[in-house]
This record gives sequence, structure tokens and C-alpha cells, in this order.
Amino acid sequence: MADNQKRFRPATQMVHGGTMRSQFGETSEAMFMTQGFVYADAEAAEARFKGDDPGFVYSRYANPTVAMFEERMTLLEGAEAARGTASGMAAVTASLLCDLSAGDHVISSRALFGSCQYIVADFLPRMGVSSTLVDGTDLDAWQQAVTPQTRAFFMETPSNPTLELIDIAAVADIARACGARLVVDNVFATPLFQHPLRLGAHTVVYSATKHIDGQGRCLGGVVLSDEEWVEEKLAPYMKHAGPSMSPFNAWVLLKSLETLEVRIARQAASAATLADAIAGHAAVSRIFFPGRDDHPQAEIARRQMTGGSTMVSFEVAGGKQGAFNVANALQVIRISNNLGDAKSLVTHPATTTHQRLSDEERAELDIGDGLLRLSVGLEDPLDLIEDLTAALDAAGETPIRAVS
Ligand SMILES: *Cc1c(COP(=O)(O)O)cnc(C)c1O
Repeated sequence: MADNQKRFRPATQMVHGGTMRSQFGETSEAMFMTQGFVYADAEAAEARFKGDDPGFVYSRYANPTVAMFEERMTLLEGAEAARGTASGMAAVTASLLCDLSAGDHVISSRALFGSCQYIVADFLPRMGVSSTLVDGTDLDAWQQAVTPQTRAFFMETPSNPTLELIDIAAVADIARACGARLVVDNVFATPLFQHPLRLGAHTVVYSATKHIDGQGRCLGGVVLSDEEWVEEKLAPYMKHAGPSMSPFNAWVLLKSLETLEVRIARQAASAATLADAIAGHAAVSRIFFPGRDDHPQAEIARRQMTGGSTMVSFEVAGGKQGAFNVANALQVIRISNNLGDAKSLVTHPATTTHQRLSDEERAELDIGDGLLRLSVGLEDPLDLIEDLTAALDAAGETPIRAVS
């Protein structure tokens, strides 16, 4: 089935890819809410456990609805195999832990989602896996961090929250030369705008919680790579450590994938319009959007991405209070730390997602007190522009109060 489906384009894959029909021939994918499976006789159970008879054994190992989601993601990403996970962080953690041992070394870009930063910088070292965090845009820094023990490279591009871009192909070359795997967290790019495997990455991970669900309902994640690695390294870890995806969430995410392309196209177009609309506003001192020519890595964006982003970050005058004034004045855009949602959401990274970091670490990552990160949703873009410009206008008029 998969080989036949590979020739279809992404929008078609997202509607049909991986569908398995039961004997009832249902149109919409069935939700197999079952922990286990029964066997016709004891011989059948023996054959299933031996692997002589392909089929399902227990939903921690595999489940038909989860398998449909994994197959659809595999086709979309152009990977050979995938495993669904309970959350995006379960995917990140599985992608690293399943193939690392004490004594190994990991190199990661330092502009990371908060929990990824915890896993790489705090958790792995406690398990005996040392890590070095580098400025991901500095290719020499990746190269210089390599040790004889380096086994994995990890990066997010575009990064959270400043949408910094890393040259995936160049870093993949450095990783390959030292025999390490490159793992790319592709959440901010979405499976539509960037294809890390084609650029030389070994593994791609997603938080399906974000754009893939895109409607704020459930958590999920997925790890994609080549078949041999998935079967030999990832599958045993998933089976025995158990960060498995719920069949219910897999079903929600399957239905979400059907609309992913239209949602991302609309959200990214609105994000580009919004970025242009506010870039010249007197209250905006900096704008970060991969689709604009003033993005510091605009050349990389053109080379490795097929779209801008559904995210826009910008800095306003007046530091924390200036940013709070803008966020509090918004009527349509809601304050939340989530992203990729149908609802437009604004975050103040310095006091929420990146609160855990020290002032120095935040400064190093360019996360100023006036920085706001906007996830652009499906509302009418004109309402979003009016909402944001009104809030920025009001901020310009509000005297900056001292932050208590
Ligand atoms: C949200 C996110 C994660 C974690 O995903 P969860 O589903 O919340 O566990 C990892 N990486 C990036 C870039 C994210 O945005």
C-alpha cells in the first residue's frame, strides 16, 4: 500500500495516507480503543509473539489507529518508518535516549524549546551523557564541539522564540563526518515547509500537539527515520519504556492531518501579512519572520524552507511592561504559551516559556524583556491586523510604568 501511495502529493497523502479499513469499509478512520488483541487459538498467539504472523499484540507496542497515523506521517515526511509518542517531549526524549549510552556526547543548538533544553543540558548529563550547547548558526562551533564520543547532534530550526535558522545540510555534513546522527525538531517549520531528511538529517521529531493537531485538543508526538534504525533502536525503547501514543489521540491527529495543508497555508499567509503590517510600526523595534528579507538568515530560509512560518516574533519598546501592555490590550489574539493553533496566541517568552533561564542565558538567546511571540491562527487576517495594530497604538500612548 505504502509504495503505491508514495507517488501522491502531500495534500493527498494527508487525506488518504495510511488508511486501513476494517471489514465494515468505514469512510473515516476507525478508532481502535483497545489495550490488547485476542487470538483464534493458542497457536495463533504463539505465532504472533514469535513474529511469524504479523499483527497486533498490545497497544504499548503498536495499535491500528496509531499505525495509521504513523504511516500517514511517514508518507508526508518521506521517511521510511515512524513511531507515534504520547507528546512531543516523549518524541524528543525517545529519539535521543533510545540510541545513547553513558559516556556518549551530544551537541545541540542552544536556542531550544524549554523542555528540550532541560533534556539536553540537565537530564542527559545526569545519565552520564555529556552535552555541549552551541550557537546553532555558527558552523565552526558545531565542528569545534565534536569529540571522539560525539554520537548525536540535536537542533531546532526555526528556533523558539526568535525564529533563528540553522543550515541543516551543513550541520548534517559535520555530523556525518564524525559518525553522529543529526536529530531535527521540525515543529516550527511543520512537515510542509522543511524536509530535514532530504537535507541529510537522520531523524525528525515533531510535537503533533502543535500544528498537526492545530486545534488545541490533544498531545502527541512522532519520531521519523530510516526503517533499520526505527526497528533496531527506537522500537525496542518505545515497546519497553512505553511513552506510547493513545489511540484516541492518534485518531484526533489523523483527522487533523486531513486539514493540515489548508490550515498551514492560511496561517502562514496571515503571518506574512501581519509581519509586514507591523514591521514599520513605531512601537515595534525588531521583527523576526523567516519569510522577510530582513531576517538575519533570509538566505537559508530561501534555500531550505518552502514557506515562511506561522509564527512572528517582535520586540516592543518599554521592556516587560511595554510587552505586557501590548498583550493585555489584545482582543482577538489570546495570551497562551501554546502555538500552531487555529486561535491566534501571544506569548511573553521571558516570563513564561523561558522564565527558567538566567538573565545571561536569555540575553545570549536574544530573548529580551520586550519580546513577544505570536502564533498566527485561522481568524480573518484583517481582524488580526486591526487587533495587533490597535494594541501597539495603545502601547505607544500608555506611559511606561515601572515594573514592580
Ligand atoms: C511544544 C514543543 C515541544 C514539546 O511538545 P509537547 O507536545 O508539548 O510535549 C518540543 N519542541 C518544540 C519546538 C515545541 O514547540
